[in-house]
Amino acid sequence: MQTINPDEYRHIVFFTGAGMSAESGVPTYRGRGGIWNEYRWEEYACQDAFDRDSRKVLEFHELRRKTVLECQPHAGHFAIAELEKTHPKVTVVTQNIDGMHQRAGSKNITELHGSLWRLRCPMHGITEDIGEKYKSYKCEHCDNWLRPDIIWFGDMLDEFVINQAVFVLRECDLFVSIGTSGVVYPAAGFPRIAKEYGAKCIEINPEQTKISFMYDISIQSTAGDALPHLFQKAE
Ligand SMILES: [Zn+2]
Repeated sequence: MQTINPDEYRHIVFFTGAGMSAESGVPTYRGRGGIWNEYRWEEYACQDAFDRDSRKVLEFHELRRKTVLECQPHAGHFAIAELEKTHPKVTVVTQNIDGMHQRAGSKNITELHGSLWRLRCPMHGITEDIGEKYKSYKCEHCDNWLRPDIIWFGDMLDEFVINQAVFVLRECDLFVSIGTSGVVYPAAGFPRIAKEYGAKCIEINPEQTKISFMYDISIQSTAGDALPHLFQKAE
């Protein structure tokens, strides 16, 4: 099995998608068996739905939080967090909103689609809220409904966050893509950016993807199996 010596790289970026969380048992949103087959996103995951019935939308997200809390980070999450402790620069860029990387101990994380563990008041900004139930559905200062700080259907991606991600993709010299199909933009363009700017690119996915050919190394495996053995320092 191929190994990578992390000391040969200045900045290692892990880019993680739904497959990374699915390995922990977190239900995916899109695709077969995904949440959007069971629930209509029009009723639960867009600004219109929130404006119509904020309570219903918040209750739905509490259900997501409960499900996520019943799942645990896997060996792949922990391998990334461990590497961050011993390597000068490791960044996680994730499409997932479930906070699994944080629970495994990762610190340097860019969340492209927001987080299940944050709420946003239109007047008073973002607050962290961790737990199954939200501490309050309404802002303590102004009584506005608090909105999950998540990119919903119809929302623009946060430009600041995207720019931050693009910056690290250009800057890194090792890019490891995990559990992402590579079809949803702008994330689908990320491996290309990393490659263009000279990073070595590795893909870890149990299945071949449409963009597997773009990678220098394509590992057909789960993250939990592959990651703990991928990084080996020289003796
Ligand atoms: Zn407020």
